[in-house]
Amino acid sequence: MSDLYGLLFQKVLYPGWERGLRRRPTLSHLEQLQRSEWSSLDELRAFQGAELRTLLDHAYNHSPHYRRRFEDRALRPSDIRTVDDLRKLPLLTREEASDSFEDRMSLAEPLPRIRKMTSGTTGRPLAFAYDVGSEYWRQATKLRGYGWAGYRLGDRSLHFWGSIAAVQAPPWKKKAKSALDHLARREHYIDCADHSEEALASVVRQLRRLRPKVIVCYAQAGAALARHIVETKSRDWEDIAVISAAERLFPADRDPMTEAFGPGIFDTYGSREVMLIAAECPAHQGLHVSMENLAVEIIVREGDTERPALPGELGEVVVTDLHNYGAPFIRYVNGDLAAALPAARCACGRALSRLQRVDGRKVDTLRDGKGRPVGGLFFLVLFSVLADKVREFQVVQRKDRSIDLKLVPGSLFDDSLLEMVKRNCEKAIPGVDLRIHVVSDIPVGPGGKSHVVVVEN
Ligand SMILES: [Zn+2]
Repeated sequence: MSDLYGLLFQKVLYPGWERGLRRRPTLSHLEQLQRSEWSSLDELRAFQGAELRTLLDHAYNHSPHYRRRFEDRALRPSDIRTVDDLRKLPLLTREEASDSFEDRMSLAEPLPRIRKMTSGTTGRPLAFAYDVGSEYWRQATKLRGYGWAGYRLGDRSLHFWGSIAAVQAPPWKKKAKSALDHLARREHYIDCADHSEEALASVVRQLRRLRPKVIVCYAQAGAALARHIVETKSRDWEDIAVISAAERLFPADRDPMTEAFGPGIFDTYGSREVMLIAAECPAHQGLHVSMENLAVEIIVREGDTERPALPGELGEVVVTDLHNYGAPFIRYVNGDLAAALPAARCACGRALSRLQRVDGRKVDTLRDGKGRPVGGLFFLVLFSVLADKVREFQVVQRKDRSIDLKLVPGSLFDDSLLEMVKRNCEKAIPGVDLRIHVVSDIPVGPGGKSHVVVVEN
């Protein structure tokens, strides 16, 4: 239950601000999404198909990049009626997305008025843009997904979050405005880059003072906080729902988080380019895809061909943003890997399709001793089967091709594991020196994210 201020905010202040003052359609989109999430899969797919056709018409007519992509394949927008037909169009890799940034932009309204960058783990950052209408869909989609964890606008929330300022310092005006926004919405922000005992103890003090209804955190920051709370026995609060985002939440993180905060641990999956891609519901059986805003494909590439991944099979995530007309993302390979659950209505009652798991965001390609490419996927698959033995890992390939592999032991870790890991690495990436370091913690990078596979260039 929301408290009095929360109710006032939800019923009066926010609707007045969004609908009246700014004439934003966020709330009507949210209401629409909260209805459509109970639709059948056929109805959801029909909605996706209709939105997709509108997007493709626009892209064909107004985006020079996509006009050429259609013409290269002798296609017209009318050749693509459903999300399944999308396969007729080529993929857009991260590199191509970067190269085609200007060329993808719409020459007619709605123009790409919002421009952003992703920080990028290695290599160059990716610039992207979208129109204002897309922003309303993004906000509504996020609010719907966070709502599954019980979060409502105006609820007191604590955000244990990466400092965007560290990556991209906003001008002071923007900062002041967003500080006001946060205050009005009672969102309290704490920078999560520091995982030291003192920093975590300070978060616990603020937690006691704020008594938030929801904690929104970077997955690994939230897990570090939870372990600190368990070890120092500092929990003295009722259950708090946790929305985990931005990084992978490992199965071994759930136990300490449940002990520290209660059973309501909700994983989410999103990216700066398209925002919330999928979110966990109260049934905790996978993450529901934001189907009304995004068409998400999971594909397996075999040489020059591609095929849809089978249910449960790990594949590359391919996203089409159904409402970004400003600078369309159509079949964008975002660098993440995921497996889908078989199509079936969830125990929660929603038919929105589900991802079983999302692995290793932004996986780099390594090189073996002879310079042949080896997908970082190898490590993700290896450690996904060892999840109870290795809590966290990080792979860094140096310029001389040698590899430093850091492991944080899990509950069932033992030394024989190291031999096994070594043997598997020698097979997968022959001819490189491998150094394994067993560590208690893996430091996070700029912006508070820990990265799983990094290739130094
Ligand atoms: Zn569900």
